Amino acid sequence: KDIFVHFPLKSGGASGKARRVSAVNGVSFEVNKGETLGLVGESGCGKTTLGRALVRIGHGVVGGTVVFDGREISSLSNRAFGPLRKEMQMIFQDPFGSLNPRLTIGQTIAEVLAVHRLAKGEAARQKTLELLDIVGLNSEYADRYPHEFSGGQRQRVGIARALAVNPSFIICDEPVSALDVSIQSQIINLLKDLQRDFGLTYLFIAHDLSVVEYISDRVAVMYLGKIVEITSSQELYANPKHPYTRALLSSIPVPEPDGKRERILLKGDLPGPMHIPSGCSFHPRCPVAKPECSKREPRLLPLDGNDAHRVSCLLYE
Ligand code: SF4
Repeated sequence: KDIFVHFPLKSGGASGKARRVSAVNGVSFEVNKGETLGLVGESGCGKTTLGRALVRIGHGVVGGTVVFDGREISSLSNRAFGPLRKEMQMIFQDPFGSLNPRLTIGQTIAEVLAVHRLAKGEAARQKTLELLDIVGLNSEYADRYPHEFSGGQRQRVGIARALAVNPSFIICDEPVSALDVSIQSQIINLLKDLQRDFGLTYLFIAHDLSVVEYISDRVAVMYLGKIVEITSSQELYANPKHPYTRALLSSIPVPEPDGKRERILLKGDLPGPMHIPSGCSFHPRCPVAKPECSKREPRLLPLDGNDAHRVSCLLYE
């Protein structure tokens, strides 16, 4: 609820005052147990920062509250938060970067099991083989090193490592963005199967609406550190309301030969977080902006009283 994440800047600038960059600016949302919430936006919109802050990787939440399974956890000390790390895991875009190149995959997973005091020795080996089997890799992969794996196989290892501690909530940070399209669907299908089999809940981060459509129950669209639209996946793709969501959707190719979707081209690039425009931060790029859009900041409000579809745009206030 109302989450803020800031980065301090090293240089204080000419004034000498400490400066900071606001990467996430008052974001509120919920992820229901057993569902997948897609979190979508251009690079630099704050989605990865938000995901990492929730599990305390890098910069933490500096404002607002995080409630997990009915418990307020944002005010916990790192020590008190420790046991929750097992519950909340993260899968990364670049699994290779997060795997130790000197350890075999079997040793990597066994290390996770040992750190969390879940298994050691032969029991850890058996558990590792079981996990590899669950993600579609046979036992011989346990004795190989990360450089011997393809991108898709490394992502399977990343998923096995996350599953090793029996989490209930996984933040998937662009897990398929670096993979070929054919491999992307295999990994997404694997994630869906695991969700069904283990009752997992996902926050699925992506920069592309076409990727999240198949896996998400609901989708939140982010722009410059804020959520601008959130609703069910079905509703978002059939009835997008925010001009930014419409522009993102218009860039997805339509499969039917005569299917036409007018491409909405946005002006300019995403401004940096140091230069957030006044009023509605989307107004310099919005194709339907009105004069008041540069003066007044819209709020994320239910659309026509429907709390399941919320939009932040003055056109609907
Ligand atoms: Fe566009 Fe104005 Fe709506 Fe912002 S508030 S999205 S600028 S119409």
